[in-house]
Amino acid sequence: MKKDILEKGAILQRDRETYAIAPHIPGGITDTATLRKLCDVADKYGVKELKLTSAQRIALFGVKEEDLDAIWSDLDQQPGAAIGLCVRSVKICPGTTWCKRGVQDSVSLGLKIDAIYHAMELPNKMKMGISGCMLNCAETMLKDVGVVGTPKGWRIYVGGNAGARPRIGDLLVELGPDEDKVLAVIADLVEWYRSSGSEQRLGRVVEQMGFDAFKTAVLGAKATP
Ligand code: SF4
Repeated sequence: MKKDILEKGAILQRDRETYAIAPHIPGGITDTATLRKLCDVADKYGVKELKLTSAQRIALFGVKEEDLDAIWSDLDQQPGAAIGLCVRSVKICPGTTWCKRGVQDSVSLGLKIDAIYHAMELPNKMKMGISGCMLNCAETMLKDVGVVGTPKGWRIYVGGNAGARPRIGDLLVELGPDEDKVLAVIADLVEWYRSSGSEQRLGRVVEQMGFDAFKTAVLGAKATP
């Protein structure tokens, strides 16, 4: 019986025969050459369908198992972390790069976060989102770690998720515009989670501990204003 092939980023499909793969496209930001190559590869191997995913990727559906290695070789891209216990997607809105409502540079910060954390193995899956303003177009409140731009800087929310038991994230900390400070808090959070011994998703950890205890555990002395 066929199964997902994690090391090839291949997810078995409903037909129990073919696979879906999705290259890593940080922030969903790409260019025409990459898209042309994706189309050429899809045509070459008879890929059945291309679909835009909620994780800002382009998935190839109907891939044959025997073509997986050749497709990845031709694409010359890394698989997106769509399965497994790791940092899955880092969703990034256009922020001040393009959006007239943006107040912070979500693309700059989001790509830094993606470069550090995408595919990092953790006790459970973790999704992240970076929005350039409080309108939250990157679904930030539904991410395990959500970073939201405000006129004064950044807010970091934790413990959000979609799924069967959706949960809105809790505000962990409010910071100024310095990206390094945001990265430092996320580093503390991820390090704490890795060593916490919990195998629950972050929102369940928050619920079990209580948010105040969680905040103190993650931020330590920084939790007290
Ligand atoms: S969250 Fe704000 S900055 Fe980002 S796309 Fe939406 S409106 Fe624009």
